[in-house]
Amino acid sequence: MTPITCFAGKNVALFGLGGSGLVSARALVAGGAKVTAWDDGAPARDKAAAQAIPLQDLHEADWHGFDALVLTPGVPLTHPEPHWAAKAAKAAGVEVIGDIELFCRERAATAPHAPFIAITGTNGKSTTTALIAHLLRVVGRDVAMGGNIGTAILDLPKPESGRVHVVECSSFQIDLAPSLNPSIGILLNLTPDHLDRHGTMQDYADIKARLVRAADLAFVGVDDAYCAAIAARPGKGEMVKVSVREKLESGIYADGATLWAAVEGKRERLGDLSGIASLRGRHNAQNAAFAVAAVQALGVSLTDIQRGLQSFPGLAHRMEWLGVRGKVLFINDSKATNADSTEKALLTYSDIYWIVGGKAKEGGLASLEPLFSKVSKAFLIGASSAEFARELDGKLAYESCGTLEVATQKAAQAAAQSTGAQPVVLLSPACASYDQFPNFEVRGERFRSLCQAIINP
Ligand code: ADP
Repeated sequence: MTPITCFAGKNVALFGLGGSGLVSARALVAGGAKVTAWDDGAPARDKAAAQAIPLQDLHEADWHGFDALVLTPGVPLTHPEPHWAAKAAKAAGVEVIGDIELFCRERAATAPHAPFIAITGTNGKSTTTALIAHLLRVVGRDVAMGGNIGTAILDLPKPESGRVHVVECSSFQIDLAPSLNPSIGILLNLTPDHLDRHGTMQDYADIKARLVRAADLAFVGVDDAYCAAIAARPGKGEMVKVSVREKLESGIYADGATLWAAVEGKRERLGDLSGIASLRGRHNAQNAAFAVAAVQALGVSLTDIQRGLQSFPGLAHRMEWLGVRGKVLFINDSKATNADSTEKALLTYSDIYWIVGGKAKEGGLASLEPLFSKVSKAFLIGASSAEFARELDGKLAYESCGTLEVATQKAAQAAAQSTGAQPVVLLSPACASYDQFPNFEVRGERFRSLCQAIINP
């Protein structure tokens, strides 16, 4: 844990005791702050009480007595309307911050030169974060990885020189971190997301931009218009452009599977992704380009980087390679909960036996239509079945299967009949999982065990 000593003796209100909120409360108490915590849910309060976190209904608190409100990123700060605790704090002139801000202040006070890589973007954050941590661990560096992935930031060991913090940041977390100042900042890409919570696309982009503007060294994707505009304006440190679409005069880019660093037209080869199953697809070339650039800036040699790329296991549920039966490949992309993510999987493979459906997102499958030619047959599951059947009718062969179990069996049987070189059974639902599963992890784990039973009967 990282005790927050810079709030010692201060009065801190804390709202939201799920996951990272409870960790923040413990870190503040451990550092000597006087915490008053609350959550609307009784189970969360009970859990906090069991860990000796002082509780009081903040509805009834005198807000003028607080030095800060630590707010969970799970509730609105601004849109569609500020949460009541944020409103109460603002009315009393109390600052509203989150756990990343607490970390930044503690780092500034105790270990300002401790390396801190912060990663954001609409897609690819977790993969890039995990790859950076892997590339550093392979060469024996002390790595603390967490944030929006896995461990809450304040549950990581405290910042100190020689330990690299590799932290995934969501837009909600950045919004609550006004002094976020990583030594290396990464902004991968921007497409519309979470606009219900940020108002407009420009507001969303402005929040994400803050992570790279205040970095000592920043890497910014230039393959979408919002990121390109951010990269074009100077920040505190150097802003290095990253592309998987164009060969840059100066910057980092991917040309096919090869990664390059260019300075005024002169280029150096950084690494090669050919044959690395966990990093297939152009989207993964983007993730890898950023990861390689960041660890090279921390002094990792190109030989060690290549070794690390080759041994990257990939993240579960993101185009996860499950195995092969005969010539049929089985891929688990359960994390693809929207059409944008599923597009990456359809782009990567062909002769696809596609298991799709669940709780549909706005827009359905419409944006994927140009890729239907890569799909041999769709197997529909979940609540979206009737809607997707209408969308696919006349465009793509499909079968309504109801459950993942039936769909996996039918897809595997159909793929085994294919005359193609490498048919692929792909779970890439383009939907949330909540209609049939608690979350995408459980859905992916179920699919993995179904496939394993087929691969190794
Ligand atoms: P995040 O943490 O931002 O949600 P992940 O690394 O977990 O991203 O990847 C989630 C899904 O997003 C993957 O299954 C893949 O389909 C897609 N994806 C991954 N990297 C990128 C990228 N750089 N650009 C676009 N889509 C991506």
